[in-house]
Amino acid sequence: MRYFEIKETVEDSALINKIANAVAKWMYKNKPAEHPVQTIAQLTGIKDTPLSKLRITFDYLSKDTAAEYHREHDGNKPLIVVNLEDWHEGDYASIAEYVAHELRHALDDVKFKGKHHVSYWAGQDKYQQPKNKDEPYWSKPSEINARVQQALHNIDYIKRDNPEASVKELWPEIKDMLDELKLTEYPGYERIVKRVLAYAEKN
Ligand SMILES: [Zn+2]
Repeated sequence: MRYFEIKETVEDSALINKIANAVAKWMYKNKPAEHPVQTIAQLTGIKDTPLSKLRITFDYLSKDTAAEYHREHDGNKPLIVVNLEDWHEGDYASIAEYVAHELRHALDDVKFKGKHHVSYWAGQDKYQQPKNKDEPYWSKPSEINARVQQALHNIDYIKRDNPEASVKELWPEIKDMLDELKLTEYPGYERIVKRVLAYAEKN
């Protein structure tokens, strides 16, 4: 099987985090009830990006999740739905974190439309592919990649809370966070660490 690699860049990751924060900010400012579908550009004012035309809305989801991503199907364009069920109990940063997760799925789709794809970072190696359908969904490469995006989002907040600290000094806290996201148990972990460090050093 040939894999189409997605080359994630620090810039892509930073863009996703910026959009996710803008969505969460909008949400807290406007306290939406069910809201008509808008594009990311309409909602956040962030235009001219691969995600600007992505549609987003707010609704009550029965699933216990902060947000979900609907792939394009049956002529319906991709859509992110943010859950109104519990957002007011969560905090701004955690809403944005989960929006970032779904935005990563959306960007992966934009980049590799219609092709079987895996993330270079998360799944180039075949031992990282779920071996069978009994493996949990979170071990899928696309899910690993989306959780790496969450990790990068969290790094912004860890750095903001510790403005004087070096990345090296923050590493124990970053490592714990990666562990919570189930990112430390993969053979590809070293590659994830490189990506996390590249982001942390640059942003
Ligand atoms: Zn996901």
